[in-house]
Amino acid sequence: MVTKIKIRDLNVFFGEKQALNDINLDIEENSVTAIIGPSGCGKSTFIKCLNRMNDTIRECKVTGKVILRDGTDIYDSKMDLVRVRKNIGMVFQKPNPFPKSIFENIAFAPRIHGVKNKKDLANIVEESLRKAAIWDEVKDRLDKPAYDLSGGQQQRLCIARALAVNPEILLLDEPCSALDPIATAKIEELLVELKNEYTVVIVTHNMQQAGRVSHKTAFFYMGDLIEYGDTAQIFENPKEELTERYITGRMG
Ligand code: ADP
Ligand code: MG
Repeated sequence: MVTKIKIRDLNVFFGEKQALNDINLDIEENSVTAIIGPSGCGKSTFIKCLNRMNDTIRECKVTGKVILRDGTDIYDSKMDLVRVRKNIGMVFQKPNPFPKSIFENIAFAPRIHGVKNKKDLANIVEESLRKAAIWDEVKDRLDKPAYDLSGGQQQRLCIARALAVNPEILLLDEPCSALDPIATAKIEELLVELKNEYTVVIVTHNMQQAGRVSHKTAFFYMGDLIEYGDTAQIFENPKEELTERYITGRMG
């Protein structure tokens, strides 16, 4: 197994309040890693650290390192943030397509990154939509508004949008929490497929989901990483009492 993301001594503060305490974690390449834990424990804060999304919050301070396989630390002051976010895509809880056509949602970022040729753009759009398992549902209406799609389709469109700039890492923060079970199952299937090509990190409050899609699971509690290991071990044989209490529903 190859480590794709090495997180070292990661601390996050919002003003005076510390939200993550000294997190150390190695994320495996081409696998799905699940982040679980009760509401407010720091899951979103953690996953946002992995592509410097917290930089956009003024009172937020991050210390520590997030080192990629090529040895670069994304918190290095010389790091190009546009490149970081191109390489590390993010999908949020609520699908957030742009108020544009399906085609334009996907073509937007590649165009910004310099793809001008119409045929190249069309190819990227098709390939991205195929990878996100939504091509067949939208291929005949690429010029229609993305808002016309169902919630589950919009979320797969957002995944396609993230894939369109060729990232290596895909971060998803509770991507199914606004979706029905059928749409959720589609996304789960998709994630299992995507890990062959990408390193996937998913925050989920749904433990069955973590069990179904992930190979490794990290359990957070009140800003601490309590336990990290193979998903089967975490769920069947947790080492820490806090983990056990959480997965058996005896917490809070
Ligand atoms: P989770 O995703 O696990 O529910 P979060 O990462 O959203 O938890 O939040 C972790 C802690 O950080 C919480 O105490 C929350 O109130 C705090 N927090 C998150 N975002 C901000 C922010 N923008 N400003 C101040 N505090 C924040
Ligand atoms: Mg959250």
